[in-house]
Amino acid sequence: MAAMELQQLVDRIAAEVTPGGTPAGYIPALARIDPHAFGLAVATLDGEVFRAGEHSRPFSIQSISKAFTLALALAENDDVWTRVGREPSGSPFNSLVQLETEQGIPRNPFINAGAVVVTDHLGLGAADRLLGFLRQESGNPALDVDPEVAKSELDHSDRNRALAHFMASYGNMRNPVDVVVNEYVRQCSIAMSCTDLAKATLFLARHGVRNDGTRLLGVSGAKRVNAVMLTCGTYDAAGQFAYRVGLPGKSGVGGGIIAVVPGKCAICVWSPGLDVRGNSVAGVDALDRFTTLTGWSVF
Ligand code: GLU
Repeated sequence: MAAMELQQLVDRIAAEVTPGGTPAGYIPALARIDPHAFGLAVATLDGEVFRAGEHSRPFSIQSISKAFTLALALAENDDVWTRVGREPSGSPFNSLVQLETEQGIPRNPFINAGAVVVTDHLGLGAADRLLGFLRQESGNPALDVDPEVAKSELDHSDRNRALAHFMASYGNMRNPVDVVVNEYVRQCSIAMSCTDLAKATLFLARHGVRNDGTRLLGVSGAKRVNAVMLTCGTYDAAGQFAYRVGLPGKSGVGGGIIAVVPGKCAICVWSPGLDVRGNSVAGVDALDRFTTLTGWSVF
């Protein structure tokens, strides 16, 4: 698809989507954001970025961070899979229930319990490592944690602490719970724009190759991260997301969604109004339109 066509398409989608839904209420700093904001960026493999709406406005990446921490953990080796599964959960992202029946092994790395395990696996300094990676891939050295969101989230982290303590009781936590939850909250509180995130996600469209030409992951590793995004990346609506969008994607309660078209481009869309499952209403709508209009999907 020619560059001009792609820009027209991105503009058309931004003009046609209707933001709706409600921002996440359980983290007060997120609840205050205008639900009607909308931004979209599509970064292609040849280095172009097509943008619309508030594409350069930073927002809280929240669970989108989990796709990157999984990639960083798998870049070392496959050991993390002894501590976390890779099946869709079918339960809310912060559920405690399955942890008991599954002996402290979370269902997948993208529900909160699983992401806390991945952060524990990366160890002390996990959030700074993630920041370094995101700065490098996005080409934006100014990226940082939003201290207001981090404080707000830390002040409301009883549930995540409970998940971590519960896993610790089964021996599935290496570092002290407070240390791990602090790293996890910092990683979720990183602020990035659609443009930053689309660029930072490109390594997954390049089958594991970073923007400096070195590899973070082998071809299989990138395939695996994309596969887990497809099956587990959009809370317990991953089936609906695959049906409508047909791409690996990861959403966050800040209203952002990243999606990957392997071999072509990475997309980030942001609109803070969420549906009941926690996915951005306008974000899913925009991605549905994008794959329908371009015919670009993994199916
Ligand atoms: N930091 C959020 C939490 O742990 C992430 C939730 C999300 O985006 O899914 O509750």
